[in-house]
Parts: sequence; structure tokens; C-alpha cells
Amino acid sequence: MRTVVDLTRCQGYAQCVFLAPDVFELHGEEGLLYATAVPGDQEERVRQAAAACPVQAILLGEEVSTGAR
Ligand code: SF4
Repeated sequence: MRTVVDLTRCQGYAQCVFLAPDVFELHGEEGLLYATAVPGDQEERVRQAAAACPVQAILLGEEVSTGAR
């Protein structure tokens, strides 16, 4: 599974960091770092994080494009 965070929406509430600390990490005020390729054992946590994000900034799915290439 892949995840992409819309950083223009992210307000640094850190709900995702709390729920899936192996995937999301906050640096400083609003600097969110995350892994785009979600390990299988983290998928459920990432789904919970996406559901908990107050601004729906976390996008999920195999079809999510990172815009790379
Ligand atoms: S829960 Fe949403 S708003 Fe909060 S840090 Fe994560 S992505 Fe950003």
C-alpha cells in the first residue's frame, strides 16, 4: 500500500504520528516526514491514521500517485 500526505492541508496535528509512529514522523513545527511505501504490518495503523486526520490530508491506496517520474 502507498500513502501520500497532502502537505498543503496538513496542519501538524500529529494524530497520524501518534497512531502510526513507524510511518509518520513530525520534525519541528509543521514538518511531517512519512514513508510513501507502507509496510504490510503497518497498513492497519495507517488506515486508522488516515481516518483520524482532522483535515483528511492522508491519501491511501495502491493507486495513489506520488507524482514522481
Ligand atoms: S494527522 Fe493529518 S494534519 Fe495531523 S500531522 Fe498527520 S497528516 Fe498532518
